[in-house]
Amino acid sequence: MQYEAVVAGSHNAEIGLPAAWEILSRGGRAVDAVEAAIRLVEDNEADHSVGYAGYPNLLGDVQLDAAIMDGANRRVGAVGALEGYRHPISVAKAVMERLPHNLLVGAGAARFADEIGMHSEDLLTDETRRIWKDGIDGRLPGKLELFRGPLAQLTALAADPEHVKGTVNVVARDKNGDLAAGVSTSGWAWKHPGRVGDSPVVGAGIYADNRYGAAGCTGLGEISIRGGLVRDLISRLAAGVPLREAGDQAISDLLPIALEFPQTAVMNMVAITREGEVASLTTSSELAWVSMREGDDAPVRALSIPVRWPGVEVGR
Ligand code: ASP
Repeated sequence: MQYEAVVAGSHNAEIGLPAAWEILSRGGRAVDAVEAAIRLVEDNEADHSVGYAGYPNLLGDVQLDAAIMDGANRRVGAVGALEGYRHPISVAKAVMERLPHNLLVGAGAARFADEIGMHSEDLLTDETRRIWKDGIDGRLPGKLELFRGPLAQLTALAADPEHVKGTVNVVARDKNGDLAAGVSTSGWAWKHPGRVGDSPVVGAGIYADNRYGAAGCTGLGEISIRGGLVRDLISRLAAGVPLREAGDQAISDLLPIALEFPQTAVMNMVAITREGEVASLTTSSELAWVSMREGDDAPVRALSIPVRWPGVEVGR
């Protein structure tokens, strides 16, 4: 039996969807299509939330998180706080395919990336170095280089609302009916060194299970980790709740946690069901998402369904 293939993602995935669609339309696997789409976003120098030219942490080091999950068997690979490699999604996929592990972080992840032949490079560009310096110096007392106290004191000040957001997520169903999800991010700009967000945390930022659906989320990872957001969505789908209601319920359930971050809390999700229905939900005032399926010459943009969090400032 042949299923209708479809790929969908966050708005910034647009640049990668045609490559994913090319793979799906010739019968390739969802997990390969998701990787192909995300690699192009990781290469995109104009996108400061993912891969090369992503915003760095407090010390000016770019630390990347990513994960990919295959709904056919619930195999997953993830990396956290990876430095020096622009394609964390491919390192994550290699973790899934080649290691008896799910998640590698830091120096161990970088060592593995090197061993599988990935090219290492400086991911900070002149532009992101300048924005980092301006962002840090604009919000923190004095030059960070001269600051000798504990970095932990700076994390709240450094949570620059202009730069907190951004990540790419992509979900797909292939012609075999297999689902996959992938997420890649440079995380919360000016984060504490070693901070890992929700993207590589299975069940928080990503999940895929052919029996029910697949999803990835973007937004303040500190919230989705505490709520186990994407696994919560999948459990609601498994219980028979329709996709849009399941997404609304799962995000709404995070409200008590979101209220602890009234200025910066935001959550967005792109999800697909085993039937191939796709939807995106957001707590922002307006957010686009993109998809491609049979008959589309180019990615189709649509607006995400709003979910309200009373008491939390609605950002863009
Ligand atoms: N979820 C990402 C993180 O917390 C950031 C984002 O999507 O805006 O690292």
